[in-house]
Amino acid sequence: MYQAELTGVLGTPVAENPTGVMQEAAFAALGLNWRYLTIEVQPEDLGKAMDGVRAMGFQGLNLTIPHKVAVIPFLDKLSREAELIGAVNTVRREGKLLIGENTDGRGFLRGLREDAGVDPRGLNAVLMGAGGAARAIATELILAGLEQLTVVNRSVDRGQKLVEELVEKTGARVRFVEWPSPCLEIGPEVNLLVNATSVGLYPNVEAMPAVELRGASKDIVVCDAVFNPAETMLLRLARAYGLKTLDGLSMLVFQGVIGFEIWTGKAAPEKVMKAALLKEMT
Ligand code: NDP
Repeated sequence: MYQAELTGVLGTPVAENPTGVMQEAAFAALGLNWRYLTIEVQPEDLGKAMDGVRAMGFQGLNLTIPHKVAVIPFLDKLSREAELIGAVNTVRREGKLLIGENTDGRGFLRGLREDAGVDPRGLNAVLMGAGGAARAIATELILAGLEQLTVVNRSVDRGQKLVEELVEKTGARVRFVEWPSPCLEIGPEVNLLVNATSVGLYPNVEAMPAVELRGASKDIVVCDAVFNPAETMLLRLARAYGLKTLDGLSMLVFQGVIGFEIWTGKAAPEKVMKAALLKEMT
């Protein structure tokens, strides 16, 4: 009975990754003899690390920067979402097979539904950013039945490439807009605004994406993927206008919740996980 089931995260740098705190709290709350290991792995060692994951029978794994795309050749199968997004942040075991999933966008979506009480079906959304988080969020919003998506990004190439891929793979109504100068003005037709850039991320906590909310609908929901700090300048501004907001902690907690459920097959203790994360981050 001393042998534990193993899960963990591979990345570099990974020391500051808070997911283990959430997962360990959840395992303890359910009395499971499971462990979550936070493991530093250099890019050139990823293949050997994945061999180790197989050899040691890990039940589940998270991948973070810079391994989310590089891990794909070391897996046996991808979920539809991971394939659409082109990146994997969670691996589950099916017998001897390792299956790649992506729970970042699903975590965002679950937070949108459960924390903000919003269903994206039929909505008109503006997404700032075209990196990994934006890819995952855009894909899940489209799969959830969004009416229209506008991707706004600083570098044109990256933004256009994301939009082309989304249109090709999903057939959804998605368009690209280069970030306007001096700022992006949000009009009353927008129902959902999501910051998936890294602007505002610690230590640059005074930075804010160049966006004007004065003309926004009173019913808009303003979301930030940045979770450190939880209250970003963007969310502070939105609240000052009396607008509904959703912070990046929600997405972080729910991607962990989904990972826990995929690995253990049990309902995750969401409140325990969120409390553990909040305690760690304050
Ligand atoms: P990437 O490096 O893949 O993408 C970064 C994005 O931010 C790009 O679109 C980039 O634009 C844009 N950007 C960076 N600096 C600026 C700037 N000064 N002005 C305008 N745009 C800028 O990062 P990720 O997608 O992985 O992460 C993005 C954010 O999401 C991070 O803050 C991360 O912490 C957060 N995140 C949160 C998660 C959660 O669970 N809450 C999960 C995953 C990520 P360009 O293409 O022009 O360079």
